[in-house]
Amino acid sequence: MLLLQNITKGYGEPGTHSYRPVLQNLNLEIGKGERIAIVGPSGSGKTTLLNLVGALDQPESGKILFEGTEISGYDKKQLAAFRNKNLGFVFQLHHLMPQLTLWENVLLPLLASGQKITDEQKSRAEYLIRKTGIENQKNQKPAEMSGGECQRTAVVRALINKPALLLADEPTGALDQENASALTELLIQLSQEENITLVTVTHSVEMAERMEKKYVLSNGELVQSSKFKV
Ligand code: ADP
Ligand code: MG
Repeated sequence: MLLLQNITKGYGEPGTHSYRPVLQNLNLEIGKGERIAIVGPSGSGKTTLLNLVGALDQPESGKILFEGTEISGYDKKQLAAFRNKNLGFVFQLHHLMPQLTLWENVLLPLLASGQKITDEQKSRAEYLIRKTGIENQKNQKPAEMSGGECQRTAVVRALINKPALLLADEPTGALDQENASALTELLIQLSQEENITLVTVTHSVEMAERMEKKYVLSNGELVQSSKFKV
């Protein structure tokens, strides 16, 4: 479903001393419904890579194809429309709106389309909230919830639009061990159930081991790995 071909990306002006290469001739193919983990030392370019896959940034050279369509040539407006339709994001920090309740936070992406929220969308929200075990917190605001509850809310918000691809950048990075394992299992279960492709960047060996494929990002390239000794 997703193909990255010969991707190069760095920061600064190419050809000058300020230029810092990050990704170099990187290739990756991800199948529909696959769950993959990307690991690598801090600063190796994991977030840079995820931003490209998530259409938040553009490569300097190379192609990105999503279900056969090249998105690397899209302009800003096309990229935004593409993201809204196809992608869900979960970050290390939940980025929930502090003044809104859990319920309002998970419905927020639906309001972005400018249309009225349907009963079907509301039942989907209810379903996901029950599934993630945060139904008792529905009317609470982020400050009144635990870190794990906030992060599960962020997962529901990411899934509300039925994305084909879920991108997670260190989603368990701010959680304790118990909540981290629970969130990992939740992401696996929900992506399986809805045939969502999951790409997760993680420092957690435990989380990476739960994914079907694991890649190490090193020297700007991805290497598939069966065992982690990072
Ligand atoms: P990771 O997520 O693996 O820690 P990043 O993708 O965030 O790595 O960063 C890779 C490298 O690119 C780092 O050296 C970082 O300092 C640099 N970098 C990231 N974003 C920018 C930016 N917007 N401008 C300049 N340099 C950046
Ligand atoms: Mg990062």
